[in-house]
Amino acid sequence: MSDSSQEPLLQQLLKLHAFDQEISFLERELKRDQDGLLTAVEGVAGLKAELERIDSELLRLRADARTAEHNVDSKRDHLDRLRSKVNQVKTEKQYGAATLEFDLVKQEIRKLEDQVLEKLQVVEDLEGRRKALQDEFDVADAEVAPMGEEVEKRRANLEHELAIKRDRRDNIAIRLDEGVLALYDRIRSGRQEVALAPLTGEGVCGNCFTSVTIQQEMQIKGLAVIVCCEGCGVILYPGEMKGAP
Ligand SMILES: [Zn+2]
Repeated sequence: MSDSSQEPLLQQLLKLHAFDQEISFLERELKRDQDGLLTAVEGVAGLKAELERIDSELLRLRADARTAEHNVDSKRDHLDRLRSKVNQVKTEKQYGAATLEFDLVKQEIRKLEDQVLEKLQVVEDLEGRRKALQDEFDVADAEVAPMGEEVEKRRANLEHELAIKRDRRDNIAIRLDEGVLALYDRIRSGRQEVALAPLTGEGVCGNCFTSVTIQQEMQIKGLAVIVCCEGCGVILYPGEMKGAP
């Protein structure tokens, strides 16, 4: 008889468990793909927002630099007027006052010119940063669409595979003893995804390494009753039993 209902209960549970592990694996793959895509999309959006922030900052800084340049221009006009004034003075005293003012304005111009250079430097630095960011954005933005297509293709494949595995899993589950299935589901819904573990050659649980009694070992090997590990609660099966479907 090859009917699986004739298989030992543990063997059926092991098959169920193998499918459940594969299903969990595929579900994690799906989630990882979606998370990866989301991270990429958010990364592009973040770069775009940063570019917009820099653009408005640049507008402000350029206007600031232009204002500083205008200040220099009007100071230069002022200096021109003073120059002709110096040429027109009549007395030594007037001459002294005019040249003093002339020198002061010249000093102010130098200071303002330094400020203009500083402001232009800030603009240039930010333009450099913007260019690097734009390059980064272009690369990231170009990657998102193909990545989305790739993820979508993989999603379709993974979901197809998942549907098949879930179907096969349900076929096993439906023939299992209800009480045993409930026990299995309860163990699996806990903290750990593992519901079954082999009893090792040393007579310990393959999941948490808690020892079992000789009597339990006999029961496990006899396949007649379900024995749970007293350490971690998983159902134990003989180490030589293979669960792969
Ligand atoms: Zn254990």
